[in-house]
Amino acid sequence: MPRRNELEHKALDVISNNGTDGVLQSELWRELDATSREGSRIALKLETKGLILREKELFEGRWTYRLFPKRKPASLSSIIDSPCLMCTNDARCGAWSPISPNDCPRLTMWILGVEEEENEIAESSGET
Ligand code: SF4
Repeated sequence: MPRRNELEHKALDVISNNGTDGVLQSELWRELDATSREGSRIALKLETKGLILREKELFEGRWTYRLFPKRKPASLSSIIDSPCLMCTNDARCGAWSPISPNDCPRLTMWILGVEEEENEIAESSGET
């Protein structure tokens, strides 16, 4: 059914663009010009596919759901110090090229450094 698939894609776009704030189910259907029945079915389908999370929320005296994307878009700040951004081999580097991220020591060291920083943050906040 093309309309439903189209609505699913649009709904996922809107939910993803709202990021950590999420979007109320009722606001979403208004934005997509869908009925609440259509909207509920699409939200359930997206949740079943593992693409969104639904959290129950009391809004203006009525129970509804706030929808969040499961996959968060990468932020530019997370890669700003990646060695690839200033690498002189960038144009020749590729997965199947002689110069490859698969065996690049600079990239490996950077990834391990990021992982180490994340572990230190987790340890200091008691998450481990
Ligand atoms: S993977 Fe290594 S060689 Fe390739 S662009 Fe990044 S730093 Fe340069």
